[in-house]
Amino acid sequence: MQRRRSIAITVACLGTLVSAPSFANGTVFIRKSGGALEIRSVPAGTVVLTFDDGPSEYTARVLEILRENSVPATFFVVGECAVERPGMLSAILRDGHELGNHTYHHPRLDTVSRRVMAREVALTQAAITGQTGRATRLFRPPYIHTGPPDSATMIVVDALTRKGFVVVGEDFDPGDWARPGADVIVQRSTGPEGGIVLLHDGGGDRSQTVKALPGIIAWYRARGMRFATIGAALGLERLEVMPRPSISDRLSAGLLQARLASAKWTSRYVSLKRVAAALVLLAIGGLLGFRWGARRTLGDQRSGGSRP
Ligand SMILES: [Zn+2]
Repeated sequence: MQRRRSIAITVACLGTLVSAPSFANGTVFIRKSGGALEIRSVPAGTVVLTFDDGPSEYTARVLEILRENSVPATFFVVGECAVERPGMLSAILRDGHELGNHTYHHPRLDTVSRRVMAREVALTQAAITGQTGRATRLFRPPYIHTGPPDSATMIVVDALTRKGFVVVGEDFDPGDWARPGADVIVQRSTGPEGGIVLLHDGGGDRSQTVKALPGIIAWYRARGMRFATIGAALGLERLEVMPRPSISDRLSAGLLQARLASAKWTSRYVSLKRVAAALVLLAIGGLLGFRWGARRTLGDQRSGGSRP
């Protein structure tokens, strides 16, 4: 089946990209070293399960279901969630899945400056490298399901593919984050030709996603579809998708971890200082209250007043 075709377009200027296909067309954007931007899709008959916004308390259960069914997947992680759950990214890789970058704080990238965008991406790269010893070339912008205008989307795509990222969209967006019910999630995640399915393992209550997952897998399996990671579906080697980081990547990952540790220490220190200040205030308050109470008692006694 040749449902989708790879389209190669040359990026002459951003103006020419306004009419380019958006993420809603299920496209994957990749730039060859020559500078041309290719828009690809996964082959028909292939299913790529993707999980955004984790890791969270639901990720371990998602991994269990995938393991039980021998299904590979791709996880687009949020950096600040990753640093909260050390070890989870390594667990995802150990099970043979792929990791992708989904920014550090999950902003809409069409509303932030280039500098902020670069920082969001770099911080999450550092979090992934720091925890797994691997980098990633996969990137998915937040909020692609609500979809910025094509021109804004393509500005993000242009910037990130120039940095060597493969920018991943989706074919099926079941809106699982809105919790429409597990049956609806299965129905909206499935189609006769397969494709990239956008699910969420973090960012809120994902119990319906977890409940729907076996049904999605069973639906595709019953029709003889093949499950693959993004990299495998595109014919990329694992080391191309998750390369060993360069020395500068390792250094920046180390620096980030040091900064995070220092930030944690600082916030703990600040909290301790606050507690200490509160205790001092309480002590002073107690002392004054005691003295004031003592004076009143004394005064009452002096004036001969009586207490009830
Ligand atoms: Zn997201």
